[in-house]
Amino acid sequence: MTLPYPHEVVRTLEFIAALCNGRRAGELESAASLRRLCAEWGFPGASGASRADAAATWGRIPLIEAMWDAERDTAAAMANRVFRESDARPHLVRHDGLDWHLHGLFAGAPLADAIAVDTAMAFVDLVRADDTARCKRCGDDRCERMFFDRSRNRSRRFCSTTCQSRTNVAAFRSRTTAA
Ligand SMILES: [Zn+2]
Ligand SMILES: [Zn+2]
Repeated sequence: MTLPYPHEVVRTLEFIAALCNGRRAGELESAASLRRLCAEWGFPGASGASRADAAATWGRIPLIEAMWDAERDTAAAMANRVFRESDARPHLVRHDGLDWHLHGLFAGAPLADAIAVDTAMAFVDLVRADDTARCKRCGDDRCERMFFDRSRNRSRRFCSTTCQSRTNVAAFRSRTTAA
């Protein structure tokens, strides 16, 4: 289905979920791993990311996760704080075959700020649409990976089919043992 958001908003939310999940899983430690992730997701301005950029980015993860888990009003306040602290300058750009879209900072801004501001900009759309509940964590409590629920009625519960079937199997086993 088509969500009422620009494509790049959904991509940003899925990118930050991959960033936080990867960091939590210990897959993101080095600057190279951060550069690779950004390249995979097409997050711009990361090809020269240094160790300091990586450290600053890891430093923003608790805030991003808190925004992900927050209620709507809290998410709004957090997004505003990011805009203030990063001195955001929203402007429209068209580049690399991408049609007009919003950038929050000018080129050359620190990567960690760019990630935080893009996150906050994505939350602007979710807050306005009262749709922050699409930012979820996997229903399998051994997993808890972040994922963006694209389903029409916001009914998705698991990060992957693996977690879904593992949980179904466990539920089936507990039902059959109880019987
Ligand atoms: Zn762009
Ligand atoms: Zn999961």
